[in-house]
Amino acid sequence: MQDESKKNLGLERVKKWLYAKDLNARSSGCVLCGSCYGHGPANPMEDVPGPKEKCPPYEFYRFQRHTPKSRWLMAQRVFHGLDPITPELKEIVYSCTTCLMCQELCGVRADGYGPWDITVAMREQITEEEGPIAAHRHLYQGLQQHDNPWSQTRAERGFWADGLGLAKIAERHAPTLLFAGCSADQPSGRAGVVALAKLMQNAGEDFVILGDQEKCCGLHAYDLGFRREYERLQQENLDAVTQGGVRRLVVACGSCRRIWREHAKVGAVGLEVLHGVEYLEAALRAGQLKISKPIRKKVTYHDSCHLGRGCGIYEAPRTVLRAIPGVEVVEMTRNQRWAWCCGGGGGVPEADPNLAQWSATDRMREAKETGAELVLTSSALCQRSFNALEQPALPTQDLIEFVGQAV
Ligand code: SF4
Ligand code: SF4
Repeated sequence: MQDESKKNLGLERVKKWLYAKDLNARSSGCVLCGSCYGHGPANPMEDVPGPKEKCPPYEFYRFQRHTPKSRWLMAQRVFHGLDPITPELKEIVYSCTTCLMCQELCGVRADGYGPWDITVAMREQITEEEGPIAAHRHLYQGLQQHDNPWSQTRAERGFWADGLGLAKIAERHAPTLLFAGCSADQPSGRAGVVALAKLMQNAGEDFVILGDQEKCCGLHAYDLGFRREYERLQQENLDAVTQGGVRRLVVACGSCRRIWREHAKVGAVGLEVLHGVEYLEAALRAGQLKISKPIRKKVTYHDSCHLGRGCGIYEAPRTVLRAIPGVEVVEMTRNQRWAWCCGGGGGVPEADPNLAQWSATDRMREAKETGAELVLTSSALCQRSFNALEQPALPTQDLIEFVGQAV
């Protein structure tokens, strides 16, 4: 067993590529092209030109130190002991919403590492040296004490499934598991997972849930730099599904999809991980589910950063919506790969609430400009961000709940 204290964490974890010693490897470091935040001289990494606005903290502050490339340069200096970790540096490191845009655009390294990895590594480094920042302490304690960032106790987990007649993994085995996510027992996250469970029942799926044994997938632990907590949650989550004989995992949230895909890669090779909307697309195609009612509505779909750029899922939600008679889908200017972030990720609502609110408001403005009546989402974090706005320009609804009305 590896000694916990000797594990490579923080900047040490990315040392191999952060500041390579030999010339060949060094030349694949940041070349200051500016592609990652959309304001480079030529944006060489951008095969199909997209909108200029890409990195929410940069667009909010409009100051170079808030760019992804600056975080890369700052990390190199901290790593070599040239600069200390200061409150100003932390402000910048914790203003990243983990929208993954820079990661998508920076093609400078052939091994796939990018500026977002640097942000995460810096956060790990800060957590190792000083513990979590004050704004994130409650999330950290929630994970440590209750396996849940919102500090819901184990007794409160799984309430979302009350009255649905769903079997728990502790009661029997099934090939498919519905993983609800931490937001399922929060008012803003419940509707989507309840609708998904009912649709899976309707499709005749043999599935179980974790119920009160469910733990956070690890999203906050990963993105906020609580690496040790992340690895613990990863192992415990993997143990739960492998011991339960699960071969397919369906999640209700785009961020859970991104994290579970990573778990499957390291410890449950062969485990199929699907977002609910992918499940619905397949079930409709196979005739397991039938659309029986039209919905006469003009809607726009907000691509979640983690389901979109994180997992590359852009078509399934649109295909499912097109299958509903009466639905008119209108696209926002910044859609799919170029979707603007809701501001809800990376612990930014806690660390930099003005930035989070600005990002969500800007997305709502864009949605309103399409002429849509409703914004559909596919992630509990996005739903939470839009719900937190005092006067949102449009109502929002979970896409799966919306589809449920047509079945
Ligand atoms: S981080 Fe990547 S995309 Fe950004 S400036 Fe450096 S090389 Fe260019
Ligand atoms: S992940 Fe998004 S918010 Fe964070 S630095 Fe990259 S582009 Fe900016």
